[in-house]
Amino acid sequence: MKTIAFSVQPYERPFFDELNRTYDHDLSFIEAQLTPDTAALAKGYECVCAFVNDELDAGNLRTLAEGGVKVIALRSAGFNHVDLEAAGEHRLTVVRVPAYSPHAVAEHTICLMMALNRKVHRAYNRVREGNFELNGLMGFDVHGKTAGVVGTGKIGECVAEILKGFGCRILGFDPVRNPDCEKLGMTYVDLPELLEESDIVTLHCPLTPETEHLIDAEAISKMKPGAMLVNTSRGGVVDTGAVIDGLKKEKLGSLGLDVYEEEGDFFFRDLSDKVIQDDQLARLLTFPNVIVTGHQAFFTHEALHAIVDTTLANIRKVEEEGRCDNEVSAEKHVTEKNEKG
Ligand code: NAD
Repeated sequence: MKTIAFSVQPYERPFFDELNRTYDHDLSFIEAQLTPDTAALAKGYECVCAFVNDELDAGNLRTLAEGGVKVIALRSAGFNHVDLEAAGEHRLTVVRVPAYSPHAVAEHTICLMMALNRKVHRAYNRVREGNFELNGLMGFDVHGKTAGVVGTGKIGECVAEILKGFGCRILGFDPVRNPDCEKLGMTYVDLPELLEESDIVTLHCPLTPETEHLIDAEAISKMKPGAMLVNTSRGGVVDTGAVIDGLKKEKLGSLGLDVYEEEGDFFFRDLSDKVIQDDQLARLLTFPNVIVTGHQAFFTHEALHAIVDTTLANIRKVEEEGRCDNEVSAEKHVTEKNEKG
């Protein structure tokens, strides 16, 4: 299928080049994000391949459909950035990569937890300066602590499995219970109880109207003083202003973020010679007990291989059969939610 892929980084090209030998799609690549300024570049293509910060709102979807696009192939599991109603109105088929490597995201989550706890970011800088002092670097034993997992799907389950290995007591909050998490020994509780009891709270739910700002000032007020919060799900699940306030008041002990509410303006590009114009992001970067990574939790060789392979297979399936199991639509989304309760 004649496809244009937006937001393609140099590290993705070798995967496309290798795997497309099997699928033989007619592929074009651009590094630019899909925005109102770039959407017209898709004119004449049947498929648009997009990543997490490409803007698939009603206006851009209309431009794409008017230019002849029939398929939107997401290189992500999350589809919160797509206006599914508008896609349906324009008869655009939207496909995604529902699972690639939950281990990649889970392992990065644990990496943030351990680095924050043992202050590896500070120790690294100190030692390079010849400062071998330990003051300010004290951590805690993760063994025996309580970890709260919000969203116990594929990634939440992997995180729980690793934390079990550390010897943690694991609490879970999810409207749908995962029996494999229960087998691991996870205890399901409601969100307030999870927040009150947990030394570490880690977020693994999708961004939906229900989860937007799930962690707000009220949620933070319920957390244990000094608790750690880690978010590798989607930026909008956390109210950034509220966490900054929680850090300033020393209610939050530490914060690890791989995602940020306004990340679309910053992540996936080198802005090291620019002044950061976003005051909340700039403030977050000043705290000694905050680590921000630029949406890299998925970024392993295995995950990229799986993302590109599934994306190319999704496009072929729609091309040959007009449908695909990895399709998402407003209708399917509502049905799935109702089925899950
Ligand atoms: P999944 O669908 O397997 O699991 C998500 C879980 O969240 C489900 O069990 C669902 O029931 C639960 N959930 C839904 N609404 C909830 C709510 N209101 N409160 C608590 N739980 C709720 O998805 P997954 O593969 O585990 O991925 C989870 C999220 O991780 C994705 O939606 C995506 O946003 C994010 N993600 C981030 C990266 C990254 O690189 N940082 C990569 C992949 C995925």
